Amino acid sequence: MRRATPAAKASAVQASGACACGAVRLEIDVPARWAWHDHSERSRRAQGCAYATYVGSYRSRFRWLAGEEHLTRYEDEAARTVRSFCARCGTPMLYERASSPTMVNVPRAVFRERTGRETRYHMNLAEQADWTWLGEPLAPLKGYPGVMWERPRKSKRAPRDPMFDL
Ligand SMILES: [Zn+2]
Repeated sequence: MRRATPAAKASAVQASGACACGAVRLEIDVPARWAWHDHSERSRRAQGCAYATYVGSYRSRFRWLAGEEHLTRYEDEAARTVRSFCARCGTPMLYERASSPTMVNVPRAVFRERTGRETRYHMNLAEQADWTWLGEPLAPLKGYPGVMWERPRKSKRAPRDPMFDL
């Protein structure tokens, strides 16, 4: 077996990420291993979004750059996962799964730079929220500049949205 020298293993390019308040910073060597959308209910709730998009990196190619002391960890024993987030601003920073011990997952949104992988993969689609926007056509909402909406489908009688009832 050929052994890689440290010089050969080191990547010349890194992508760095930061939380909303800037206290916690991290980096990975580029290209990342892969990038994926997680439609699981656990990630949806933990990250407060329709689905979470992660960049998967080998643990050996991941580093904290600053602010590790600001991290708080939530260990989900049933799911065998650990989620680390900034205790100052709440930004999710790392998602570790016991089923993939050599990998770490960083929310794609914390990176400004490209990570060398397109987000082509979808996991846990069976748990996808039925309110996820899937690219249905949008139209401007009359009287509310900047608000777009999905017109109700003709086959259904959609109730009026009370948010915009005056
Ligand atoms: Zn923060």
